[in-house]
Amino acid sequence: MKLVIGYLYGDLMNIYGDTGNIIALKKRAEWRGIKVIIKMFTIGNEMKKGMADIYFFGGGQDQAQELVARDLVVSGKGKVIKSEVERGVPLLSVCGGYQLLGDYYKPHKGPKLPGVGLFPAYTVASHDRMIGNIIIESMFGKLIGFENHSGKTYLKKGALPLGMIVKGFGNGGTVQTEGCIYKNAVGTYMHGSLLPKNPKLADWLLKKALEVKYGKELELKQLDDTLELQAHYKAIQKFG
Ligand code: GLN
Repeated sequence: MKLVIGYLYGDLMNIYGDTGNIIALKKRAEWRGIKVIIKMFTIGNEMKKGMADIYFFGGGQDQAQELVARDLVVSGKGKVIKSEVERGVPLLSVCGGYQLLGDYYKPHKGPKLPGVGLFPAYTVASHDRMIGNIIIESMFGKLIGFENHSGKTYLKKGALPLGMIVKGFGNGGTVQTEGCIYKNAVGTYMHGSLLPKNPKLADWLLKKALEVKYGKELELKQLDDTLELQAHYKAIQKFG
């Protein structure tokens, strides 16, 4: 089997170690004998339906978000992302990437940046800096990461949060909630990087990608996650 990981604007949106999510997805697939190709979609290259089997969209500062928001509209990549998620393709977006997949992101300076409209949510930059370790309770059990954002995300009616805050800020707009989940797309404020010490979420994304690509239910071979789970539980114990 083969998987193509679509790295959205990885040259512009990859702060706080978010590339670690790409490495985790790649290794966890390769450890199962799955060939992985990483494809960067960014300003200047084209993106069409079916060009990747799973997408990752990392965090970025306001300046990068401005450039990316414009390209998402002008190049049509935003529409492709939306249609890919609608057909079940999984996606993980973190912080700045997550913010650009809502209705809009209003930075401190300048006009609202148009979002892709994937998550029923919108984000407004605030004067609070929400920074620190974050733990949530979710459908994947506890998830632990690190957050650093001023944007407060407000979930609209019917939006599903990724999880509920155990420690930290999370969305900050709709309090006590963290992130958003729509079909197989996940938005979150958790940098870290998130996936290496949250293997359950990593494998859920891989499983969904393979099932959509190959059109059948698939069970992933169990990996020895001793190290990953030690990191997971140690971090929860330390910061919980
Ligand atoms: N610029 C956005 C904010 O501060 C996103 C930052 C990030 O991706 N960490 O909220």
